[in-house]
Amino acid sequence: MDKKLLDWIHGFGLDFDVSTGLSPDVETRKRYLSQMKGMYSDDLAFENSVANYDSLVYEFHELGAPETAGDLAFGCSIVYPGKVGDEYYMTKGHFHTILDTAEIYFCLTGSGYMLLESPEGDWAAQELVPGRVVYVPKRYAHRSINAGKDVLRTFFVFRGDAGHDYGTIETKGYRKLCVEQNGQPTFVDNPKWR
Ligand code: ZN
Repeated sequence: MDKKLLDWIHGFGLDFDVSTGLSPDVETRKRYLSQMKGMYSDDLAFENSVANYDSLVYEFHELGAPETAGDLAFGCSIVYPGKVGDEYYMTKGHFHTILDTAEIYFCLTGSGYMLLESPEGDWAAQELVPGRVVYVPKRYAHRSINAGKDVLRTFFVFRGDAGHDYGTIETKGYRKLCVEQNGQPTFVDNPKWR
């Protein structure tokens, strides 16, 4: 990534291709299936999938926004279509370290859901379709799920100092899983949730 382009003090413009979610000037971080051990409910299907081919599940921009309350971090998230067993490809999901910070996701291509869950156990799945904005309220963990056949691409913005808490989800899991049942995305209880 050429950090000279990103002048967080004086401002900058940055081009994203809305059909790919990529920028010619900045790279993405990549998450492969092997990096998501334990996050899918079907461990056997997971091991078989990884042994067969370590697929790229998702990628996202991390542009290095200053971690202050006055700055905004942004970029695109790109989740590829696929499943582990019956469970759709998804991002790991996270709470913000500063729990009282919200986030915006604007869907560019594909279809799926933003799965939301509060520490108290309230949950919701907001549908993502091109042109729709999903508001992730403060205090809610969020995970993008690709429940379609095309690539799910979203543009996101959040407070620069919000921080990412992946550990809580990695340890506890989400209460709900998004699986394909009779050809339709369906939310079911996560048997591994604790
Ligand atoms: Zn977030």
